[in-house]
Amino acid sequence: MASKEIVKQEIQVSSKKRLVITLSWCKSCGICMELCPREVLGAEEVTKRVILVAPEKCNGCGLCELSCPDYVFTIQELEEILPDARLRQGKVIQ
Ligand code: SF4
Ligand code: SF4
Repeated sequence: MASKEIVKQEIQVSSKKRLVITLSWCKSCGICMELCPREVLGAEEVTKRVILVAPEKCNGCGLCELSCPDYVFTIQELEEILPDARLRQGKVIQ
């Protein structure tokens, strides 16, 4: 059986908070896109999977983490204070 690639993306929300998004777990239900109060999330044109359309607007409220039935979102509280909170915003990790 071929192994499936796990694709993640992250938003550095503040110097002590990060939102990690496991894009490849998304089942395209659209709940998070409806609920995000800052219009950070959108749907990819073909697959309708979640994508980041405005990562700079994310305030780390955590609604996406609470609402996604497939555990796509994780808010991480960081122990280390990063010097530039926006430096890694929207970075794709594979
Ligand atoms: S943490 Fe809040 S603002 Fe950021 S993507 Fe999730 S629901 Fe939207
Ligand atoms: S709530 Fe989860 S499964 Fe549904 S579209 Fe958003 S990320 Fe995908």
